[in-house]
Parts: sequence; structure tokens; C-alpha cells
Amino acid sequence: MNDYLVLLYYHYTLIEDLEAFRDTHQAFCDNHHLLGRIYVAREGINGTLSGLKEDVKAYMEHIERDPRFKGIVFKVDEHHQHAFKKMHVRVKKELVNLSLEEDINPKKLTGEYVEPKDFYQRMLDPNTLVLDARNDYEHQVGHFRDSIKPNVRNFRDLPNWIKENSELLKGKKILTYCTGGIRCEKLSGWLKAEGYDDVGQLKGGIVTYGKDEVAKGQLWDGQCYVFDERLKVPINQVEHVIVGRDHYDGTPCERQLNCSNPECNKQILASIENEAKHLGGCSPECSRHPRNRYVASHQLTPEEVETRLNY
Ligand SMILES: [Zn+2]
Repeated sequence: MNDYLVLLYYHYTLIEDLEAFRDTHQAFCDNHHLLGRIYVAREGINGTLSGLKEDVKAYMEHIERDPRFKGIVFKVDEHHQHAFKKMHVRVKKELVNLSLEEDINPKKLTGEYVEPKDFYQRMLDPNTLVLDARNDYEHQVGHFRDSIKPNVRNFRDLPNWIKENSELLKGKKILTYCTGGIRCEKLSGWLKAEGYDDVGQLKGGIVTYGKDEVAKGQLWDGQCYVFDERLKVPINQVEHVIVGRDHYDGTPCERQLNCSNPECNKQILASIENEAKHLGGCSPECSRHPRNRYVASHQLTPEEVETRLNY
């Protein structure tokens, strides 16, 4: 039974009384048994949370009653349980960080909002360049077919990558996309500030695109990485192409895990068999790490560890 809802949302707006806002927000969430992560900053709110349907609906109504959040859009998924373990409301300097000397205010400058059905059509234009605004561990789980994945670890490194690769973007119609849309608001605004004039952003992000009745998630390969215990959600309603590759043997794979070395935690894809063979380590060093979580949770003896790694 899907008695729960999972929410994803953001809204750029001015929040001045940050500490007080955080405290009352946390109390409201605790009172309604909601679990998740909410970031608040002077520039707005960005959250993802789960709870029983009536509690989540109470939360949405609570937010919508506040005039600062007029026009907020909630992406809503049904689920059979909570998708988080704790509830955190945190104050941040910025909702998303591009490490710019002059930060972009998306309420003043941002790319054109492109509806899913139009985004699908525009992707078919050979003069369009589709840019993934997410990180590499998200891209490896799924992405738009033939989209460009800048070779960066963090969102804040994107501007430098784009400056160094400007010849790729020159003269192109640029489309950007991310999970729920928040990162594109700033990235597309920054691209416009850099002088690119034909810049569109996927309105509502990938999760909205997957539910659109016309676009039906088409041209999306793999699944969409999400920042909760579900790990990924399906997007393409028409066909399912597996793009993920097993970290150890390169075979098609969609099973996500973190490297078992608690000091590494790198996100990789691997089958149960290969995880067992390598004790969940992303490298020989991580496999043999003294605090390897796989070894601890499976209570393997030193002999068993050696036998597996030497097999
Ligand atoms: Zn590792």
C-alpha cells in the first residue's frame, strides 16, 4: 500500500528571519512525523521529504499559506514507506553553489523555461546541445541520450569547465537539465550572463519530464538518481535502456552502492556477486581498508577476506 508521499521542491524567494524560520519549520516537520532534508537560505528553500499522505498534505498547505512561497511547485511521488531516516532543516549560505564572484539571482536572470513536451521536440534539433547540470555519479545512473556531461565532480566547478570548453557551446541552442530544476535556474542564468543567448532549462526537471503525458520520458536512458533511500526512479515510460556499467566488470548494471571504505564512500554500480567478491571496495586499497563496512556487516574473518580477494 502506498500510504506515503515523497516530495521534492524548491522556491527562490527572500527569507530574512532564517534562524527563526528554521526552528519553526523543524518543529512543524517533527510534529507531522516528516523525514527528509530541507535547506533554507536568504535566497529561498530547497527540500525533499517523506511522510504519511495526510502529513505531507498538511505540510504543503502550511507552505502555500505563506505568501513568500506563492507559486511553489511540489513534485509528488507515492511510496510505500518513508524515504529518509531523519529530519534536518539547515541554514545555508546559498541553495546551490556555483562559486561565482557575483552570484546569480534566478528571479532576475535565468534561461527560458521549457515545458517537457517542447524540451523533447527541441532535443531532436541537431543544432541543440543538451547539457547535464548534475554530477557524474548522477549521470552514470541515467541521462538524456547524447547529452553532454561536463567532466566535473561538483556543481561549483561547472562554470570553469564551460569556459574551457566554450567552442562546444558556441552557436548552439543550449538546453540544460537537472533533477528538479533548481540547479538549472542558476546555471542557465549564468550562461546568459556569459553571453549565450539561446538557453533553455527543463521546467520542473527530469522528474516532471518523466510524468509528462506527451514527453513520456522519451530519450531518457537509464533511471534518475534521487537523493533519498529510493536511490533512483524510472523516467522513460516508452522504453528502458540500461546505461549503468558494473564498476568491476563493465557489464550493464543499475545496482547502486557506496564504496565500503567509510573514508571513501564513492558511489559505484555493482552486482551483488561482484560486491561480494571485492568486499564492496572501489579499489584494492578500499577493499582492504581496516574499517571496511562490508567485512564488518558480514562478520568476515581475516582468512575469509583473503580468500575472497585472492579468488
Ligand atoms: Zn573506495
